[in-house]
Amino acid sequence: MTRSISILGATGSVGASTLDLVRRNPESWSVEALTANSNVDELAALAREFKASVAVIADESLHDVLKAALAGSDVEAATGRTALGEAAARPADIVMAAIVGCAGLAPVMAAIQEGRTVALANKEALVSAGEVMTAAVDKHGATLLPVDSEHNAIFQCLQGGKLDEVRSITLTASGGPLRLVDDLDAVTPAEAVAHPNWDMGAKISVDSATMFNKGLELIEAHHLFPVGLDKIRIVVHPQSVIHSMVEYRDGSTLAQLGPSDMRVPIASCLAYPGRMETPMNPLDLASIGELSFFSPDEDRFPATRLARQAAEAGGAAPAILNAANEIAVAAFLAGKIRFSRIALLVEAVLNASNLPPDPQSLDEVLLVDAAARRLAVEHLEKD
Ligand code: NDP
Repeated sequence: MTRSISILGATGSVGASTLDLVRRNPESWSVEALTANSNVDELAALAREFKASVAVIADESLHDVLKAALAGSDVEAATGRTALGEAAARPADIVMAAIVGCAGLAPVMAAIQEGRTVALANKEALVSAGEVMTAAVDKHGATLLPVDSEHNAIFQCLQGGKLDEVRSITLTASGGPLRLVDDLDAVTPAEAVAHPNWDMGAKISVDSATMFNKGLELIEAHHLFPVGLDKIRIVVHPQSVIHSMVEYRDGSTLAQLGPSDMRVPIASCLAYPGRMETPMNPLDLASIGELSFFSPDEDRFPATRLARQAAEAGGAAPAILNAANEIAVAAFLAGKIRFSRIALLVEAVLNASNLPPDPQSLDEVLLVDAAARRLAVEHLEKD
């Protein structure tokens, strides 16, 4: 049976891994919508290869370029943020949400409002919108399937289990490329994005280095698996073999293991509730040899502490944390601030924000996001 898929963020790392699986199973999939921000040539090439119904480029100035690149094909070309939302809302059996950052929130909500099955990689969307998103999922009968390897692992370990029988959830963290680096202020963007285990986009790679990735994942887990924040733990596991664990009240701990390749959790979402083939080699534990575990060092990497505080505060705080982090990461990647300044900036913005009332709608979340971005930029300009 052929199933249809739309991929938001098709030109990125998760987009490429998803399309790799689709390419290997051409008889199983038809591609509805593919989207990108500005990488118009790649988007057009993918849309032609996969015979997508529509290709959307978010950057409106690229409208004519996309139209020209798709001339003579059957692919509809569209541009702008409205078109992005419309593409996300098109009928599809599954929508892969793989835009990076809060920019992906409105399209994800558009898919949810149509009751779609959304494979969610775009963690910033759920972190920012929190209960606004989970309430919309319930209201519209949508389904969220977690793509993040940790949350996908937890989701798998919870199959057949009940949340009220969970004693704890443990998110594993590789610790990133800088875990053992002494002088964090001397770290360059190139060093920060060179992740030891995973090949990912630049923003999430920096988030892994600061541990904000784990902080965002803590908030993500809190919404996806509501067992209580105090029951969600983080352990550093540099080999990234165990992707996360669930401990039940009888003392049984279930873990999901696998290679550090996003095609595994993506395949789990695409085939859910079944399984599909991936090109992974069998897991060879004897050649891996040892698995090790450490407590996170929140003095050197305060991101998980800040994220837990934001999650405890609730309401607008996680959206503020996320927005400030996005601004800080962009500034670091542009060479404007030092590595350790990222967490300091996020903390300063969180402390300086007069917490607005809890956002009740997508528009209110986007207002909080915009205000926090402005504040973060002001802080950057002050120094
Ligand atoms: P990439 O940077 O590789 O790709 C991002 C995608 O989003 C690209 O298609 C990009 O288009 C598009 N995009 C960027 N900005 C905008 C915007 N303003 N409007 C519309 N589209 C935009 O990111 P990743 O694939 O690494 O990550 C995607 C999401 O998945 C993130 O939320 C990340 O945290 C999460 N994730 C990623 C993992 C990974 O292994 N990479 C693992 C787990 C989660 P363009 O190419 O034109 O810029």
